[in-house]
Amino acid sequence: MNAELQQLRERLQRVYDLNGISRLLHWDQATYMPPGGAPARARQTALIRQIAHREFTDPEIGRLLDALEPYAESLPPDHDDAALIRVTRRDYERATRIPPALVAEISEHTAQTYQVWTEARPANDFDRVAPYLEKTLELSRRVAECFPGYEHIADPLIDFADHGMTVAVIRPLFEELRKHLVPLAEAITAQEPPDDTCLHAHYPADEQLAFGQEVIRRFGYDFQRGRQDLTHHPFMTKFSLGDVRITTRVKEDDLSEALFSTLHEAGHALYEQGISPAYEGTPLARGASGGVHESQSRLWENLVGRSRPFWEFFYPRLQARFPDQLGRVSLETFYRAINKVQRSLIRTDADEVTYNLHVMIRFDLELQLLEGELHVRDLPEAWRARYEQDLGVVPPDDRDGVLQDVHWYAGLIGGGFQSYTLGNIMSAPFFEAALNAHPEIVEEMRRGEFGTLHAWLKEHIYRHGAKFTPAELVERVTGQSLTVEPYVRYLWRKFGALYGVMQPQA
Ligand code: ZN
Repeated sequence: MNAELQQLRERLQRVYDLNGISRLLHWDQATYMPPGGAPARARQTALIRQIAHREFTDPEIGRLLDALEPYAESLPPDHDDAALIRVTRRDYERATRIPPALVAEISEHTAQTYQVWTEARPANDFDRVAPYLEKTLELSRRVAECFPGYEHIADPLIDFADHGMTVAVIRPLFEELRKHLVPLAEAITAQEPPDDTCLHAHYPADEQLAFGQEVIRRFGYDFQRGRQDLTHHPFMTKFSLGDVRITTRVKEDDLSEALFSTLHEAGHALYEQGISPAYEGTPLARGASGGVHESQSRLWENLVGRSRPFWEFFYPRLQARFPDQLGRVSLETFYRAINKVQRSLIRTDADEVTYNLHVMIRFDLELQLLEGELHVRDLPEAWRARYEQDLGVVPPDDRDGVLQDVHWYAGLIGGGFQSYTLGNIMSAPFFEAALNAHPEIVEEMRRGEFGTLHAWLKEHIYRHGAKFTPAELVERVTGQSLTVEPYVRYLWRKFGALYGVMQPQA
């Protein structure tokens, strides 16, 4: 047995557990903690993170990685040990290259900025937060500068979330996607919008939660290794591979809120629960990237959970739970309601067709800010112009415009948005590959069975954890590099049929 590898694993296990503790503190804060706990909790979280960072950036880890390099090189690249050493090295470089003083400055600044944003947004006061955003932009550039050799200044920031992805890769993909989405959204919104009032009857919370849990149990979410609780902003979190939790929120006058956030977070959780137990306690025990993670939440939420075969099975069950609200509503009416497409202002409320337009606007504006092509003071106007151009709507104020998302006000500028759309783009070729291998998946969905799909995803994606880069994973799973075609094909097929619109011939 390799003594150095053993030592490395022991150290990584400690860091992994410290991170698990930090997530547990956060989970508690976001679910059950009384408000009075906030000041102490902020200290406790900062303390644990500091200890985790110190342990992980200990020069001894660098020494062990150096000592293990010849061993790693003697192995095939997809050997688990080689992957462990490679991924740990990448994380270690990231953690050690940013000077501790800069890390401290960023965490202090973002805490302040977030505080100011929570007041500026309801007051519709962009000017108040603008100076903070200027500083955030400067700090974001300084972080990027810690990783010299990049092609675009956003590349290092993107790399944190989506390793190996760069502006040069993402920009053409997004341009291509926008070229398809804008006419699709236009064709659809020229039609009579479907009636979705059936989603807004009174739906008691307990029954909604019970239904969501019935669905995700059938997906394969393991309640022996997870649980669901209530929160303000739904998320998935993991303390170990044996404890992967999800959260949701319920609106009694909106059936889609709890249901689809449950399916979404369960998609993230199925990924984490499916990682090979051999990777527990190491940096391999996580998803391949933000984008790949999002591909799984979207696959279960949308490609499965908003599909007709899925509802052929579940709709009668939903009706049985809510006979007064849905007893006289047909499957067709319900299916159209949950797939309503509309031009809207808020990203998180957007439908499958327009969602990515929201994301790409943010991605482009981030790049322009980082490039120095756009000044912070001109951001609200640039936001309005792009909304008008891409979505045909203009926010009446900054509250529902440039102030709507927390990302720029609670972190860096750059790298925070691309994962959502990369995930959507990836979800389609992954699902297609599963269907090609097992065409019976559709029939199984009609019976409320998901075993074949889940097992296929586990085998080809989940069990590998962070072993492969997103590009490698896409290549392995689909046999080709990432393109928007499968996703565009999926959207046109589904929404073209739903709205009776035809794809213009190229
Ligand atoms: Zn997600």
